Amino acid sequence: MTFLGIEWHMWKVIGWMGNAVFTSRFLVQWYATEKHKQVTVPAAFWWLSLLGSLLLLSYAVFHEKDSVFIFAYLFPWLVATRNLIIHYRHKKTQKICAVCHTVSPTKANFCMNCGIPVAGPQVSSV
Ligand SMILES: [Zn+2]
Repeated sequence: MTFLGIEWHMWKVIGWMGNAVFTSRFLVQWYATEKHKQVTVPAAFWWLSLLGSLLLLSYAVFHEKDSVFIFAYLFPWLVATRNLIIHYRHKKTQKICAVCHTVSPTKANFCMNCGIPVAGPQVSSV
């Protein structure tokens, strides 16, 4: 089947899904940065990097069989996975205020919002 000048088959669908997912991470990151008015890399960026790069890597390995293309997507999924592990570990150790429920950094001793002492890790890894 030909559509938009492209001959579509299973690997074309997987490759274009990889392109769409991998590219969409930049829109997610840009949106987060604009929303927070500072450079921000949300967890969704790394999830999209992981999924998109695995789709593109499988397309490169099993369909294109091209060394340049394979190398380009050989490492992004590793970096994304490592960043996700670090992100969720960090979230687990953040502290939440018993009074105002503000989330404070791991090393905080006092709530950033109301100033009362905050105790050990209490935030779920959402
Ligand atoms: Zn507080």
